[in-house]
Amino acid sequence: MSSLKLDDLNSVQREAVLAPDGPILILAGAGSGKTRVLTYRIAHMIAERGVAPGRIMAVTFTNKAAGEMRERVAGLTGADQRMPAVSTFHSACARILRMEAALLGAGHDRNFTILDDGDTMTAIRRVLEEAQLADSPPPELMRARIDQAKNEALTPADLAANAADGRDRVVAQIYALYEARLAAMNAIDFGGLLLRAYQLLRDHPAALQRWQERAAHLLVDEYQDTNRVQYLMVRLLAAATGNLCVVGDEDQSIYRWRGADIGNILDFERDYPNARIFKLEQNYRSTKTILAAADAVIQNNRERKAKRLWTENAGGDPVTYHTGLTERDEADFIAREIARLTAAGTARHAEIVVFYRVNAQSRVIEEALVRRRVPYYIVGGLRFYDHREIKDLLAYLRVILNPADAVGLERMVGAPTRGIGAKTIETIAAIAARDAISACEALGRLESESNVALRIAKAAGELYSWMRELIARAPATGVRALLDQVIERSGFAAHLDAMIDGAARRQNVAELLAAASAFDAEHGPGGLGEFLERIALVNDSDQIQAAGGRVALMTLHTSKGLEYPVAFIAGMEEGLFPHMRARDNEREIEEERRLCYVGMTRARRLLYLSNTLSRELYGNRQEARPSRFLAEIDPGLLRRIVPERAPRPVLQTPSREPYVDYADSQIAEDDGAGGEAHMAVGARVQHLTFGRGVIRRREGRGETAKVWVNFDRAGLKLLVVKFANLRPVAD
Ligand code: ATP
Ligand code: MG
Repeated sequence: MSSLKLDDLNSVQREAVLAPDGPILILAGAGSGKTRVLTYRIAHMIAERGVAPGRIMAVTFTNKAAGEMRERVAGLTGADQRMPAVSTFHSACARILRMEAALLGAGHDRNFTILDDGDTMTAIRRVLEEAQLADSPPPELMRARIDQAKNEALTPADLAANAADGRDRVVAQIYALYEARLAAMNAIDFGGLLLRAYQLLRDHPAALQRWQERAAHLLVDEYQDTNRVQYLMVRLLAAATGNLCVVGDEDQSIYRWRGADIGNILDFERDYPNARIFKLEQNYRSTKTILAAADAVIQNNRERKAKRLWTENAGGDPVTYHTGLTERDEADFIAREIARLTAAGTARHAEIVVFYRVNAQSRVIEEALVRRRVPYYIVGGLRFYDHREIKDLLAYLRVILNPADAVGLERMVGAPTRGIGAKTIETIAAIAARDAISACEALGRLESESNVALRIAKAAGELYSWMRELIARAPATGVRALLDQVIERSGFAAHLDAMIDGAARRQNVAELLAAASAFDAEHGPGGLGEFLERIALVNDSDQIQAAGGRVALMTLHTSKGLEYPVAFIAGMEEGLFPHMRARDNEREIEEERRLCYVGMTRARRLLYLSNTLSRELYGNRQEARPSRFLAEIDPGLLRRIVPERAPRPVLQTPSREPYVDYADSQIAEDDGAGGEAHMAVGARVQHLTFGRGVIRRREGRGETAKVWVNFDRAGLKLLVVKFANLRPVAD
């Protein structure tokens, strides 16, 4: 056993690593080494205190973070050690449910399907159709309500008991029907993984004891983002030993909309009165300037504990604050700046990240990067496993593992098409229910049904016979061999050839086959269940590539725990960031501010914040005001860049207009296009459809002269003077 060196920890970090058993709270700001302490604490327990790895359980927020932590621990303790369980909450719960499947109750066995978002929606739609309510609620709303209930550890019965009105009772009723449907399908959704695992442990003392032993040392990263059911789960697992070490930062709680409760970390001391508390105050990630700017923003939140954060790192460059005329301007600046940084050798592409508040912002940024030939990739874009042909093939595998998976069956019978339509699907469901058999077996009984066309029944019978064979072989067969069989027997190759983009889809299928081979090599035959589980639990952040030489683009919500030498935050405008959903709600604004703090503190050396004067989003162009978060930063920390040809300040500003503060802009002269006085910048005009507005800028001359007009109601528009038919108005 090598002795573990703790030289690269500061004294508080070391104390936290060495602290004896018992509840521990490590509460500290961004980049102060919380994750590092957690990793070292695990390594130290194994290498120095002789704790068996099988008694350590660590929970992280993403699979990627879990993978990194496992690697770091292995690096510290020596690779020959058995590894402790490090995973996300969802993976940990899936494992508990598979191992304790005998206790799951009617309908479920260890081969249960994990439903993804799309499958969940399909199942809810079916339930709503069957319920035939007079006033059916939208499926999206139902899904959100059920999800919320699961996050809060509420069952259908709990909802029914708490129902305030008829609508609540409908939700409870649909929730109950949905759960029954999942049981009939031997399926569990994402939220269900957490809730079912919690209920199982709570209700079965022997199982609880088994898992309390495996989690005799329980460590949780990013604790500030745990929701109610995760909180209950943690409390249950830690109840026997009290060896619970949680780390987090209440300033980085950004998942309220998914049920995260910042109170879980703020109340830790109350829940565990004998907790030892460590506060890490030294930041190792960012420059002094970046840290000061981030701190200035978060200081404005009230729901937080006072914290200090300092760094010995260099002062660094000022934070760049760029204002573009439009989102294209902004994107162009970002692309230009990235090209400049990489050409100058200041940073490599892989060291740069661009954050935005909503996915829709990425399109314009992508276009600008393409124009400048900057290589990039999007985190959270279409996942590989979401491609249609991949989902189709996975549907076959799902049914092979779990023949009751009706949603998977519905998908696979249509790819390639076999003439089995919605009506036949209904018949299959009816047969399954009537004869108490799986959906897949019902496929084989269509031939003896009088109301099914012979052609369809024959196709179904043939499909059933080879599926049955693969189901029998699956426990002793590799995933790759199963896939090869599915492709051959279903005629999948010809099915792809018939598609216009068949070539690209064939490549994806080849990629899936390679992934299956790699998995088999690691796992051996019979790994289908684990293969599908891994795929089901892949999340956005798993797309992040450290290597690859490309700039990363992602939403701020995905940025948790990451660090990049150079970070851009685009779209710092009121209504976008903070998002308009947060409008007038101080708690929501505080959540947005935390998101801003998380984003800013990802940057190590250079941070860029940008906004525009006018933004088109979701097909709507509007005048944009700078985000309040920008105003919270001391201007002394900022390097200000404004558009080269900024609009002239409007001298007689009507009160509703404009909100942009031009005080520190370098005002360019009007281009002197001249023309009629009523077309001058600042003049008030009337347009036939857009109504009244103010001319903000002119471009070009003569025939092609254009004006930017900010309309009171319609927002900013670019119009060709010749055709716009603008009339001067007095006020
Ligand atoms: P976040 O709040 O963003 O999750 P964190 O508190 O978990 O951050 P880490 O990611 O553990 O912080 O550490 C931030 C950076 O500082 C990492 O690059 C880490 O390697 C480095 N670091 C942490 N502690 C030290 C130390 N004592 N000496 C040198 N570098 C350190
Ligand atoms: Mg961390």
